[in-house]
Amino acid sequence: MTPSRHVAVTIDLARIRKNAELLSRVAGVPLIGVVKADAYGLGADRVAPVIADLVDGFYVFELAEAIAARLADTGKRTIVVQAASMNSDDYLSRRAQPVVWDSESARLLRRASPVLSVDTGQQRFGVPISDDRNIDAILHSGGVTEAYTHATTVTQAVAFATALRGRVPFLHAAGTALIAEPSARLDAVRPGLALYRGAATVSVPLVEVTDTDGPAGYSGFAARRHGVVLAGYSNGLRPGSCAVNGRVTRILEVGMQSAFIECTEHDRVGDTVELMGPQITEALIATAWGTSPQEALVRMSGMGERRWIG
Ligand SMILES: *Cc1c(COP(=O)(O)O)cnc(C)c1O
Repeated sequence: MTPSRHVAVTIDLARIRKNAELLSRVAGVPLIGVVKADAYGLGADRVAPVIADLVDGFYVFELAEAIAARLADTGKRTIVVQAASMNSDDYLSRRAQPVVWDSESARLLRRASPVLSVDTGQQRFGVPISDDRNIDAILHSGGVTEAYTHATTVTQAVAFATALRGRVPFLHAAGTALIAEPSARLDAVRPGLALYRGAATVSVPLVEVTDTDGPAGYSGFAARRHGVVLAGYSNGLRPGSCAVNGRVTRILEVGMQSAFIECTEHDRVGDTVELMGPQITEALIATAWGTSPQEALVRMSGMGERRWIG
């Protein structure tokens, strides 16, 4: 996807901080801020310093992300799930901790305080919870004091806690979906989406507004009045809802680099179309696209030029 020069992606850092404060209060345990994929497209280098004092640490996919976002400068540690390097110094110099799920990696990375990943159902990036002998070997060879699972259900989180409690002092399991579940919170929670909800606004101006009865566009749609914006599917836009002058309306048809918007007599050239924002939430877009709010957020935030406020 190519960003459109005409689309403004505005990221409210104060909102992200507010989200983190609220999560911290609700969860009652430390937060591990998930800032992988450039903080779901909102800019990990901007987001991390804003919430650093509210989190116990950060979580990314690869070490390169921690380096690019200068996460070590925040003074907090970063958990790295894909431990490509087996040299502990690569992590220590960046305040990073590699994730391990085999005893050989745990042994090699012992000096970098590796974190154990336990698989409770995802069947990737973790040692199976049933493999108790192997878990013991990893804990022992890595000197492991922290373990997590990427749980999607309370049952998985509880099974993880039951198996590891007493063997590892610091346990976490819950992402956004499980933060509301007291029995899944354990010693920390790892929100991604919940940090970013409501923080990004994606907007684009109307460049044409035309009265017609149709048929218009490629599909021959009919609308009394339609507008055109300079963003299309090559920029990541898909059909769904949008808002013009405070009214929720429809994206009628999406072309390569432009799209048709249903308008009313109140709408004029230059008026702003909200593609994501207070009225068009990540959750609403996700429903229209048949996907997750995480995917909706990361796609929408890549649609234009990013700007940070707050
Ligand atoms: C991405 C990720 C999260 C955050 O998920 P959200 O649903 O966005 O909160 C938490 N834990 C792990 C292991 C992840 O990969």
